[in-house]
Amino acid sequence: MLEQLDKQYVLHTYARNYVNFKKGINATLFDENDKDYIDFTSGIGVVSVGHGNQEVAQAICNQASNITHISNLYAIEPQAKLAEKIAKYSQMDVRTFFANSGAEANEGAIKIARKYGKTKYDGKRYKVITLEHSFHGRTITTVKATGQSSFHSPNFAPYPDGFSFNSAIDDIYNAIDDETVAIMIELVQGEGGVQPFEKEAVQELAKFLKQRDILLIIDEVQTGVYRTGEFLASNLYEIEPDIVTLAKGLGGGVPIGAVVTTHKDIFEAGDHGSTFGGNYLCTAAANKVLDILEEYKDSGALDEAIIYFDSKLNEIFEKYSNLFLQKVGIGLIKGLRVKDSDTLALIIKKAFAEGVLVLKAGRNTLRLLPPLTISKDEINEGFKRLDDALSKID
Ligand SMILES: *Cc1c(COP(=O)(O)O)cnc(C)c1O
Repeated sequence: MLEQLDKQYVLHTYARNYVNFKKGINATLFDENDKDYIDFTSGIGVVSVGHGNQEVAQAICNQASNITHISNLYAIEPQAKLAEKIAKYSQMDVRTFFANSGAEANEGAIKIARKYGKTKYDGKRYKVITLEHSFHGRTITTVKATGQSSFHSPNFAPYPDGFSFNSAIDDIYNAIDDETVAIMIELVQGEGGVQPFEKEAVQELAKFLKQRDILLIIDEVQTGVYRTGEFLASNLYEIEPDIVTLAKGLGGGVPIGAVVTTHKDIFEAGDHGSTFGGNYLCTAAANKVLDILEEYKDSGALDEAIIYFDSKLNEIFEKYSNLFLQKVGIGLIKGLRVKDSDTLALIIKKAFAEGVLVLKAGRNTLRLLPPLTISKDEINEGFKRLDDALSKID
């Protein structure tokens, strides 16, 4: 029934799996037949504090039964408090603009860079360089910024000018010219295959860019909000970018995006905006998410979960050296490189049948993004099921 309804009325942009989830508790989901699944995807890194989180539910409920939305024409208290928390936890001297998604946050970041080039370099600087295997979103501009030619379908041309991508950090230096205004990269490429960059290489690039007054934009839509074990991957890499974008894990499932920048006065009234961005409802949720995660990190529980998850992942990796080539990732953004794409597709299918949800990513990567609050029991059960699935593949 759901399948028929979906196929008849929803545009077909996804290759969908027809399961009907009805209930979620932390990293466990239940379908309409009460079959349970361990969720190693967290809705692609979104449900950072788990499904059915009662504290977040309560915060949303309280806010929803009062004010959900006023518009950005008036100051919004939970929005201001959330911006304060982002500044505090990022340990950066920043202000934040709130959007509704990752792509939108990256659009905002690109607008900041363009305005920087316009005001400081009379418009001579406007080009943004990204990296191969990156992913920055699905709007016309962010899809063009995405460093994968397969995304630049002629169906949607023409794309905006001023974007190019390089195959490695080292190549960025040569690609920079007088018209380059910003470099936009992920520190761990999520969609592109859970590929972390070397800390020294990133630090060196950051330093070089600062000397040349070229902006560094770090897309932390996937890596932000404790996914790598620190509030920002930028904190882990010990860099201070000009702009950081956030989205996925920030609202615990409520749509929200954020553009965080040290260029605190770049925008003036009218330069940018959003009807829904940063409204009472989503910022009330995100405030609660950050409160939960800050305490979770502080208590040492996040680091414990990361270490335990990694040890179980390592067991699987070593046991199935016939299937896996490499273990990749940081914190709770982890992956296993699979020998070929057919095998990867088979693993995901078999894992689903055994009751564990896993993701794919570029470069034939089996990607694991569990809720950050996943319990030890859920980790054990998820890997047991994954083991059962893998044992049926040769
Ligand atoms: C998911 C993702 C985006 C796009 O976010 P949306 O909310 O889908 O627009 C952008 N950048 C990175 C690194 C992502 O992982």
